Amino acid sequence: MLVITVLGTGGAVPTPRRWLPSVLVEDRKGRRILLDVGEGAQYRLMEIGVSPSSLDIIAITHFHGDHLFGLPGLLSTMKMGSRKRDLVLVGPPGIEEVAGGLARYVGAEFAVRAHVGGFREGDLEVQCVEAVHTSYSCSYVLRWDLGPGRLKPERARELGVPVTLLKELKLGRPVEVGGRVVLPEDVLEPRADRHLTLVYSGDTAPNEKLLGLGKVDILIHEATFADDVARQDAHREGHSTVLDVVDIVDKLRPRVAVLVHFSSRYRDLERYVRHVRGRNVVVPEDLDQIVYLVD
Ligand SMILES: [Zn+2]
Ligand SMILES: [Zn+2]
Repeated sequence: MLVITVLGTGGAVPTPRRWLPSVLVEDRKGRRILLDVGEGAQYRLMEIGVSPSSLDIIAITHFHGDHLFGLPGLLSTMKMGSRKRDLVLVGPPGIEEVAGGLARYVGAEFAVRAHVGGFREGDLEVQCVEAVHTSYSCSYVLRWDLGPGRLKPERARELGVPVTLLKELKLGRPVEVGGRVVLPEDVLEPRADRHLTLVYSGDTAPNEKLLGLGKVDILIHEATFADDVARQDAHREGHSTVLDVVDIVDKLRPRVAVLVHFSSRYRDLERYVRHVRGRNVVVPEDLDQIVYLVD
């Protein structure tokens, strides 16, 4: 299961109703991953009862202020909360200096481990794909290895597998029972789909590279402009319109798409909603949550 909370749906300039970009992703192992840290993201975390100190990974797409300026305050709060464990900070080239500078500035007693362009930990891989923006920017691909499918207990019983060995099989390792080898696939249901993939575009004009990623389950894509701005004008600024994102959704066919980074010019989102009707596309308000169930 993934729980996605859109902390800020705004872009570039905040409004009282739309705060700056930041998305919290909580995975089935309880990891908390923050994608971009717009100004005030820590207050949004507090509003939903998530301690800023509990974050595990922060991924910054690029160094435009609307995506970054919440980070100093957030790190400062982590320090005040006596955080000791390392924080993983993923970003484009230059993230090392940001990490080092901010850690010094806030006097952090925890290490801020900077990873340029990607990171891997156990079943999770975070990878930067270069976006199409006015400065070097990452779109992030988060891919979880879901491991083998569910155990068929009656099959395990038939094969005489003792309970103590079930864990090994669930981890994908063969075991020996009474001189016979039992393979994981003998007792586990096949899983058609071993990976769960979430893509967060960050700021970008439409990017062919995202279409070449293969299966994407969840797409969080910027749609800075609705239908009142010509596509080429949006692209020139390194952004996308809702019509661009509809095209991407139709080609990429994610299970669910979430639009973010709405320009402050829009008071309501009707100009977005009317174009996504009939598709599994969410046009969220700040603090809306998407719960994605994985079997
Ligand atoms: Zn932005
Ligand atoms: Zn930007």
